[in-house]
Amino acid sequence: MIKYNLKCECGKTFESWFLNSNEFDSLNKKKLIKCIHCDSSVIKKSVMAPNLPRKSNKKSVKTKEEKNIKKKLLNFRKYIEKNCRNVGENFTREARSIHYDKKSSQGIYGKATPEETSELLDEGIDVATIPWVDEAEN
Ligand SMILES: [Zn+2]
Repeated sequence: MIKYNLKCECGKTFESWFLNSNEFDSLNKKKLIKCIHCDSSVIKKSVMAPNLPRKSNKKSVKTKEEKNIKKKLLNFRKYIEKNCRNVGENFTREARSIHYDKKSSQGIYGKATPEETSELLDEGIDVATIPWVDEAEN
């Protein structure tokens, strides 16, 4: 078994175990490895994690403030899901078409890479990246 630090296109990292490096390559080729943060399958192998026992004082204790932020983000997510159209992977195209054709004033949301997002911003298209929190994640 081998542990890899994986890096997603959203910029977040997470860890996962694989039988060997070949297993990682073949799973990743089939897009079977998904980001635990945003569900994207554009995953890169990061530096291998040193397999040290976790120090007990490093246990993540969520502060009240963190929980409040999470709650706000959850509410924000619910608001967006209710009021905006999910265009998924077509986000960049749809955002451009709304901006240039002015065909719809309805908000949209979907997936874009950080590169795509900065391109849109360069073109004067108003996009925002928000953390997409999951209720289950804790
Ligand atoms: Zn991600």
